[in-house]
Amino acid sequence: MHVDIVPVGDVNAAVKREASGGLRSVYECEVTVHDAHTIPEGSYDESRKQYRAEEFIDLAKRVGSGTKNIAVTPKDLYYHRRNYVFGLAYLGGSGSVISTYRLRTSSDGGFSNRSPGEIFSDRVRKEVVHEIGHTLGLEHCDNKRCVMNFSPTVREVDVKEERLCGSCQRNAL
Ligand SMILES: [Zn+2]
Ligand SMILES: [Zn+2]
Repeated sequence: MHVDIVPVGDVNAAVKREASGGLRSVYECEVTVHDAHTIPEGSYDESRKQYRAEEFIDLAKRVGSGTKNIAVTPKDLYYHRRNYVFGLAYLGGSGSVISTYRLRTSSDGGFSNRSPGEIFSDRVRKEVVHEIGHTLGLEHCDNKRCVMNFSPTVREVDVKEERLCGSCQRNAL
């Protein structure tokens, strides 16, 4: 598998590095990081002050040439009725997106002994691995430690680990 990372907007080098590192370590895939792209035109919702996640996925598919393609953006994303999303992917598709916007929000309340920077990096890694998992056909997993566990807030992101549980590993396409 080859994964293309498409930075959209001003994505810093550390985020690109963590995203690549997470994907390589979990999927043992090749990773290509593209040059930055501008925010997809028309993706901004004036009334919500947020961006539509689907349009970032479309951009990732259009620009990327990997088996799987993931847009990474600092912009705040939403999808349908959800207030916000950390990321989005269609089951078994080739495109996906993550937003770092809300992964920065707060520390983990002392849950780990990690610094705020390390906690943020861990979240980025877990969320890219999670969204690529969906593109590999994986749905949400009940195992709270599994990276495919549904994480509506950073609390759940911090509890899960940067890896697929045994059952998700077997079920990945
Ligand atoms: Zn998910
Ligand atoms: Zn699992």
